[in-house]
Amino acid sequence: MEREQVGFIGLGIMGLPMTRNLLKAGFQVVVYNRTASKAAQMVAEGAQMAGSPKEVAQKSSVIITMVSDTPDVESVILGKNGVIDGVRPESVVIDMSTISPQATQVVAARLNEKGVHMLDAPVSGGEQGAIAGTLSIMVGGDAGVLERCRPVLEAMGKSIIHVGTNGMGQTVKLMNQILVVGNLNAVVEALVFAGKSGVDLEKAIAAVKDGAAGSWQLANLGPRMLKRDFRPGFMVDLMQKDLNLVTKAGDAMKVPLPVTSLVHQMYYSLQAAGEGKSGTQALVKVLELIAGIEVGQTKHT
Ligand code: NAP
Repeated sequence: MEREQVGFIGLGIMGLPMTRNLLKAGFQVVVYNRTASKAAQMVAEGAQMAGSPKEVAQKSSVIITMVSDTPDVESVILGKNGVIDGVRPESVVIDMSTISPQATQVVAARLNEKGVHMLDAPVSGGEQGAIAGTLSIMVGGDAGVLERCRPVLEAMGKSIIHVGTNGMGQTVKLMNQILVVGNLNAVVEALVFAGKSGVDLEKAIAAVKDGAAGSWQLANLGPRMLKRDFRPGFMVDLMQKDLNLVTKAGDAMKVPLPVTSLVHQMYYSLQAAGEGKSGTQALVKVLELIAGIEVGQTKHT
């Protein structure tokens, strides 16, 4: 079977290393980024540059989008010079951004009208997972289309699970975000509690991280909180975008989301303090303010 020609739109924190892994796996990749300098970097590594999402679509059989938010996906796929203007029938558009499940269904229907398939395939695993090619990918859409695209997705991810029809990949991603922020909130509370008690927090994390309380958030973001490293793997602004999607969906279904809603409010306070571009681990600063303690300063010999 002929190898897919891959197109990639959106070379941000996630998209750039994902493209690099596609190139490493031997795929020919055509790239587009709104800020062209980032695409030039990928061209130096073997990708071909396109001047618009339309041109990417003209040159590709599988077109991946990895942009910020729902309106951005709508713009690069359905907008002027968008994917829909150049895509050929039987091609597949795979949106790997995190966006609204309902908007995903609308985009899929528009593409289907042109004989084009769509998969929503949002990811979990963060920047590290994108670099290592170990992302968890949750896929909505036709199962046969996923099988056709599996080799492409395998270049970027380790776990690739079909979860249902279009939009359901995004719904499972929102479930993932509920789990992430609930867990992050627990990490922050635990560190502030133990820090205020005078425990050495590096030792405390080492002591619990491999037991029943261990988690990705604790092992990866806990140490960064202690080192006061608030550089983004995943930005507060993007998490707020996701929590908006979660709370809107919860409202629509009348599902109570008490902890998720609380963390959503706490992140508003960080955004108001100018921390929107910080990593999600900056959540610790909100509780530190209330508790009157800074966890990184709890040093012991
Ligand atoms: P990012 O670093 O901010 O990159 C966003 C990318 O989208 C950039 O290439 C940007 O182009 C492009 N873009 C945004 N709006 C656009 C528009 N209207 N038209 C054309 N291009 C546009 O974000 P990221 O962290 O890579 O996240 C991308 C997606 O993955 C988001 O949906 C996010 O929620 C999801 N995600 C992120 C992580 C993570 O840990 N970072 C984890 C899982 C899922 P410019 O370079 O021109 O700005």
